[in-house]
Amino acid sequence: MSGKEKYEIKLKYCPNCGESLLNSRSLLNEYWISNDIAYFCYCSECSWKGEILEIHRVTAPELA
Ligand SMILES: [Zn+2]
Repeated sequence: MSGKEKYEIKLKYCPNCGESLLNSRSLLNEYWISNDIAYFCYCSECSWKGEILEIHRVTAPELA
């Protein structure tokens, strides 16, 4: 990420209940795995926790 681009957190809401992850009791941690962006999330509203990956390339089998 170059310093000139405006920084924006793309993930804002819990994928389980839709509550905002930006409140102070929830946790949203962004890190990088190679070229991909990973978000670790913990939702204080429903206790869902997990990781979501923003990927730049998909390798998938040919669909029938
Ligand atoms: Zn939730």
